Amino acid sequence: MIERQTDHCEYLQFEQFAAVPGLVHAVFTRRKGFSAPPFAGLNASSVTGDDLSVVERNKAAIVATLGMPLVATKPVHGAQVAVVERETAAERSGDWLEAFRARLRIIEADAMLSDQPGFALCWAYGDCAPILLYDPEHAAFALIHAGWRGTAAGVAPAAVAAMTARYSSRPAALLAGLGPAIGACCYEVNETVRATFARHPLAWECARFVQRTPDPERADATGLFLDVAASNYQQLLAAGIAAEHIDDSGYCTGCRTDLFYSHRCEPWPSGRFAVAIGLRAEASMKS
Ligand SMILES: [Zn+2]
Repeated sequence: MIERQTDHCEYLQFEQFAAVPGLVHAVFTRRKGFSAPPFAGLNASSVTGDDLSVVERNKAAIVATLGMPLVATKPVHGAQVAVVERETAAERSGDWLEAFRARLRIIEADAMLSDQPGFALCWAYGDCAPILLYDPEHAAFALIHAGWRGTAAGVAPAAVAAMTARYSSRPAALLAGLGPAIGACCYEVNETVRATFARHPLAWECARFVQRTPDPERADATGLFLDVAASNYQQLLAAGIAAEHIDDSGYCTGCRTDLFYSHRCEPWPSGRFAVAIGLRAEASMKS
């Protein structure tokens, strides 16, 4: 990935996305930013206990880096997909952004799609897989939040199918970026996780588990370790995305708490790193 930085942010970019004119995206690391330990430094989450005014400063730095405001639905570890579009009527009546955000905030969805310019879809992550999609033929984009539950529910293929339904996207033409997520090196799971995957045929077929010596310090140790990123990589392939169009960051959040936050591998509480994707207004190619 390409490493970049601004005054208060450090971030990584997928090469194939960075090459698209007008497409804005970033996988922010935890470096820089303003949060104090244990959230140090660019924590983007306001729900794990960090000082809210500091989180706002971090978010302002993220917004300044991207050059566009952030919007998001409410992630609930499911497979629901939301189409994110401004309402022209709301835009004409004052604070469109606040109205837009308020409307999205109550929508429960772990995948967001859009083809509108001028804002960035953005969530905060800490082990769950951030997946970015871009359709170069229709200038449509998506952001996915795939923790173990979302992966077991097939949220990534659901997002690809929704892009096809909404924007006539061809899966073979889509570009995908698979960001930092927890790997089999760090993520021992319990029997509930295995059983949940087993109930979803595609998720089960794509799931990448590794059997190893159980962690003696875990009461529910099974010796079964889940690779969240690899499981999602398989799901993206199964959804029809070409292997040469999938960029995998290769980072395990648990192994790299110097760069990212990890819910599993850091003591509670910890921060969450931001991942965002959007289009600049002048880049709208929709005819
Ligand atoms: Zn690891």
